[in-house]
Amino acid sequence: MTDQDGLHGATHLECTGTGEKVESEKLIGLSAAGKPLFARYDLDLISSSFTRESVACRSADLWRYQEVLPVRNRGSQIRLGEGWTPLIDAHRTATRMGIRRVWVKDEGQNPTGSFKDRGLCLAVSRALELGAEEVAIPSAGNAGSAAAAYAAAAGLRAHVVVPTDTPTAILEEISALGADLQLLDGLISDCGLVVRQGVEKNGWFDLSTLKEPYRIEGKKTMGYEICEQLGWRLPDAIVYPTGGGTGLIGMWKAFDEMEQLGWIGSERPKMFTVQAAGCAPMVRAWEAGHDAAEVWSGASTYASGLRVPGAVGDFLILRALRESGGGAVAVPDHSMAEWVEKLGIDTGIFAAPEGGATAAALPILLDKGMINEDDEILLLNTGSGLKYVGMKPLD
Ligand SMILES: *Cc1c(COP(=O)(O)O)cnc(C)c1O
Repeated sequence: MTDQDGLHGATHLECTGTGEKVESEKLIGLSAAGKPLFARYDLDLISSSFTRESVACRSADLWRYQEVLPVRNRGSQIRLGEGWTPLIDAHRTATRMGIRRVWVKDEGQNPTGSFKDRGLCLAVSRALELGAEEVAIPSAGNAGSAAAAYAAAAGLRAHVVVPTDTPTAILEEISALGADLQLLDGLISDCGLVVRQGVEKNGWFDLSTLKEPYRIEGKKTMGYEICEQLGWRLPDAIVYPTGGGTGLIGMWKAFDEMEQLGWIGSERPKMFTVQAAGCAPMVRAWEAGHDAAEVWSGASTYASGLRVPGAVGDFLILRALRESGGGAVAVPDHSMAEWVEKLGIDTGIFAAPEGGATAAALPILLDKGMINEDDEILLLNTGSGLKYVGMKPLD
C-alpha cells in the first residue's frame, strides 16, 4: 500500500520475542507475548530509489530517511528540526586518552535538548496519523519534554508523569509546552503505573519506551546519520549511555537495514553500554553472562536518563552487545561530572551527565582491553548539560 505521498510506511510489525507478524496500521503497544514490536519495511522494493546518493541533498533532519520510517502521509510528519546533529572530532580528548580518534555526536542540539526528540517525533507523528487524541508518558525528564513538544506541535493533549526530583528546567519546559504535568515521589517505574491507570481509565495512548513500536524508529536514525556523516562507513566502537536502551537497539536495527539496502557490508562497530554505578542492571547482567536483566533496587544517579532500574528491551540490548563484540561498564556520578568538564574544555560541548559518562568509560574500556588505541570511537552525548543545571553527583 502506497499513499498519495509515495511513502510506503512499514509492511508490518514483528514481535521481537516470537517473530509473530502483526498489522501495523492501528495503534498498538507491546506484542501478545508482552515484547517490543519492530517495524519492518519492504527494503528490496525501497532500495531501487532510496539510495545513498538520493539522500545526500535532502532536508537536514531525520526525515531525510523517510522511506525507512513508518509515517505514510507527509502531513503527519511533525517537524521541529530533530536529528542531523553534528559529529564533532574531539581530537583533544583523543590525545588526552592516547586514542587514534574520538568523535562526539552532539544530541544536545535537538529541539528540546536531548535525543529523546528523535523517538518522540516518530511516536507522536504516528500516534497522530493513527488517530490518537491523548498521549501519556512516564519520564525521568527529557522524554517528558520531548513528548510535550511534539504533542503540542501535533495538537494532541499530553500527560507527563515524572519523579519530584526531576530537574527544574525540565519541569518548567514541560509546563510551558502545555502538557498536563504530574509529579510523583518515586522512580520512573512508579510513574509508569500512573500512566497505565490513565490508559485503562481514560484511553490515553502510552508512549513508554519500547511499549509502542515507533520511538525506536526515530532513535535508529542516529545509526543512519553516523554512517552517512562518516562518508558511509562505521566507527570501530560506539559508546552509548543506556537507560531503556532504545538508542542502542535502534542503531543496531539501522545497521541491519543499511546492509539489506546494500549501503554497508557486514561490518559492525563494537557496541558499548555505559550505566551509572548506582543503577547498572545491564552491566550486572552482562558481567554474569545473562541474556536478560534483573530489576535494580535502590537506583540512584544524577544522570536521570540512566535511572532506569528495569528495561523491557533488556534482551535486545544484551544481544546487540554480545553480537557486536562490545560490552558494558558502570561509572560513578562524580566521574561523569569530571568528564563533563574535560569534554567541555576539550570540545566546546556542554554535555549532559550521560554524555560525560561515555567519556568517563573510555579509560575503563582501554584498561580492560575492550577497546584499543588504534580504534576510532564514537561517543553519544545524548543531551545538553543546560537541562541539568543545579544537579549534583550523588556519590
Ligand atoms: C533517556 C536518556 C538516556 C537513555 O536513553 P535510553 O534510550 O533510555 O537508553 C541517555 N541520556 C539522556 C540524556 C537521556 O535523556
